Amino acid sequence: MGAGTPDFVALDWNGTVVPVFGRPPYPGVVEAIQCLEGLGIPVFVVSHATQRQIDDDVRRTGLQFDGVFGCMEKAPVLSTLRAQHGFGLLLGDHPADFRAALEVGLPFIQARLDGQAQFGGCNNSFLDWSEVPELLLAASGHDG
Ligand SMILES: [Mg+2]
Repeated sequence: MGAGTPDFVALDWNGTVVPVFGRPPYPGVVEAIQCLEGLGIPVFVVSHATQRQIDDDVRRTGLQFDGVFGCMEKAPVLSTLRAQHGFGLLLGDHPADFRAALEVGLPFIQARLDGQAQFGGCNNSFLDWSEVPELLLAASGHDG
């Protein structure tokens, strides 16, 4: 990938892609993921859930990803993705997501799709998925 393009994007699921299991994706998710695919950026789901729960809910939405991971701790999964794919980012809505990204040294972008306040110390966030592709390129911190 060229300068300014993350090597991968990891997504939290509940509160980030969908409001909660069983609900439709937030507006703009499909278009944003298509845009990332078009840029050749691998997209992964990393959800605090069992593998079965997250596999079932991803399948329900019909969205396609390069990998789907259910886990109890996100940092080890992010660390593995970083080792395998390079310098990526995490998008999530929970302080635990932010902490996991910090722990493995990856940029974090906060999903504030229900209008939540921005976390202290978090400099990147979005209120609508239409903002995401441009934000990812700006926030990747990747100098090529
Ligand atoms: Mg969440």
